[in-house]
Amino acid sequence: MSTDSHTPVLVWFRDDHRLADNPALAAAAATGSQVLCFVVLDDSGDVRPLGGAARWWLHGSLKALGESLERVGSRLALFRGPALSVVERIAKESGASAIFWNRRYGAAEIALDTAIKKRLTDGGLKAHSFNGRLLHEPWDIVNQAGRPFQVFTPYLRAVTARRQTAPLPAPKRILGGAWPTSLSASMVPLEELDLEPSSPDWAGGLREAWTPGEQAARAGFRDFLSTGLEGYAENRDRPSISGTSRLSPHLRFGEISPRQVWHAVTTRVAEHPGLARDTEKYLSEIVWRDFSHQLLHFHPHLPVRPHSSRFDAFPWIEAPRTLKAWQRGRTGYPIVDAGMRQLWRTGWMHNRVRMITASFLVKHLLTDWREGEAWFWDTLVDADPANNAFSWQWVAGSGPDSAPFHRIFNPVTQGEKFDPAGDYIRAFVPELASLPSAFIHRPWDAPPAVLRAAGIRLGETYPDPVVPHGPARERALQAFRSLRGLE
Ligand code: FAD
Repeated sequence: MSTDSHTPVLVWFRDDHRLADNPALAAAAATGSQVLCFVVLDDSGDVRPLGGAARWWLHGSLKALGESLERVGSRLALFRGPALSVVERIAKESGASAIFWNRRYGAAEIALDTAIKKRLTDGGLKAHSFNGRLLHEPWDIVNQAGRPFQVFTPYLRAVTARRQTAPLPAPKRILGGAWPTSLSASMVPLEELDLEPSSPDWAGGLREAWTPGEQAARAGFRDFLSTGLEGYAENRDRPSISGTSRLSPHLRFGEISPRQVWHAVTTRVAEHPGLARDTEKYLSEIVWRDFSHQLLHFHPHLPVRPHSSRFDAFPWIEAPRTLKAWQRGRTGYPIVDAGMRQLWRTGWMHNRVRMITASFLVKHLLTDWREGEAWFWDTLVDADPANNAFSWQWVAGSGPDSAPFHRIFNPVTQGEKFDPAGDYIRAFVPELASLPSAFIHRPWDAPPAVLRAAGIRLGETYPDPVVPHGPARERALQAFRSLRGLE
């Protein structure tokens, strides 16, 4: 792929904000040409616009990517506008001979990339695309009949039987090039992309909790490998401790790749065979991520309509008051409220609690899962088109390989099992902090003297439950049974 070093080549970064194991960047650098790196912020609606928390993350991620590129002799140019016309203009005015990018897998993204590729290649440019996002692309892992898997376990088996590609090193130097003046004039400074909230600036909790960027991703992952991997299989279900890798936003924005994760984890277990069980569990989560991308690829409707058409007739209830109580963490169920407040404050929620809060919305409140998907989309720093949609349909029971409809989490027993001392509740629902552990998941059972001593007035300082558990459970079962053919 060698070209004349005076004719530049382009690298278009999209959700792959890293230098290491970035196949598009590595291939562009290997041409020996000047490499012009850019990002396009496309708010046209051609692809689903990011939610607020993810936009905040994107700001930090682009800043970090720009700094990393400068350290190796390049820079990151930022443009804004509909990607189709912006990229075409960049291609024409830069005089580049080729463009490199890593592939995306959503239907809208593929349609856009295909249209761009056609325009560019019609104009004489070479377009090269790569897999920088997944262990295996959706069409690579198929069953014996050559069809995509619908069920996770055989998919996982098929992935683990494969040899995993080794990650690529980061280029040590990139031959930077000069952008033509006409394009320089259209570049937008990061601050002017309006990715960070200003009035009001609600991102204080996010800033406290996270550092976006490749360096932070690698540092966090190194910590997890040395102190968090051991015990992961058990600890991953305990929201009060730091028992998971917290890599999700870094993976979402491609600040670390699943190949890097896979490689590092398998190297570590080879040195420490005692970690085999934890490693197996952890890697299976990384494969869930590939699986949900595979499902989104073959079922592009996943974020917008139930995968199982039986659910088209589901008797959802429209209840703005309880929806709002759920969003704000004021349902009167402490574990649900702690989860929703963790999400609001930090832009992230522990996986166990995501399952509990999602189940509560869909089953206790009979609210359409799409309301929950949309709220998570707006508030999660790791909001991901594949993982979010698939997980919501999984909880609702309408997705491929879903949770059975009659599994209705009891928020009290879930809380008692996974947060037995109530530490997670105390961290995020401070008005309950002084309740003894015996009542922290069921404040309504606490004797009046105990409530008084803890400074709690139910219905005033902390809400009464928005729905009673037993009747809500029965109502959900009835609603699910009303769908023909579910049992
Ligand atoms: P770890 O346990 O350390 O796992 C490592 C990585 O594996 C994660 O970073 C993630 O990339 C992947 N992973 C873990 N669990 C899952 C899973 N169930 N499905 C797919 N991939 C997984 N994850 C997102 O990345 N974005 C979302 O928008 C998202 N929405 C969700 C919505 C609901 C209702 C539920 C129940 C789960 C959702 N998840 C989502 C999956 C999961 O909760 C998060 O990936 C996980 O909590 C991230 O924390 P971690 O990085 O510490 O995970």
